[in-house]
Amino acid sequence: MARIAIVSCQKIKDVSCIGCLKCFKAMALKEGEFNRYGDDLEVVAMSDCGDCPGLVMPKLSLVKDVAHQYDRDFDIVHLGTCVVKAVHTAACPINLDKLKGMIENVLGKQVVVGTHTY
Ligand code: SF4
Ligand code: SF4
Repeated sequence: MARIAIVSCQKIKDVSCIGCLKCFKAMALKEGEFNRYGDDLEVVAMSDCGDCPGLVMPKLSLVKDVAHQYDRDFDIVHLGTCVVKAVHTAACPINLDKLKGMIENVLGKQVVVGTHTY
């Protein structure tokens, strides 16, 4: 079972990417970056970057603590396509490679950059 937490861009989530419908569609159809999991996929948490300049590490650390408290641990973090788009098309200060490394090394979670291609 792939137990997943998704991190979104706070400025995009539910503003220009309404209701997180795209990620839920990709999860349901096992498309985009979710096609690697087959049917064994569970979304444990959806959070965001905590707004600019990208407070992902403290936010995700809290998510990890709460998930553990409720016996709902996750193994994999997906950085949403919204975050990737913010980095590549706007002035998002997040360094995706650096953030991926920090999440893996400090929080001990696998990281997948991106979610869907819609
Ligand atoms: S890319 Fe996914 S997580 Fe990000 S706002 Fe859109 S649906 Fe939500
Ligand atoms: S830091 Fe990047 S991902 Fe977070 S709100 Fe700002 S633009 Fe979006």
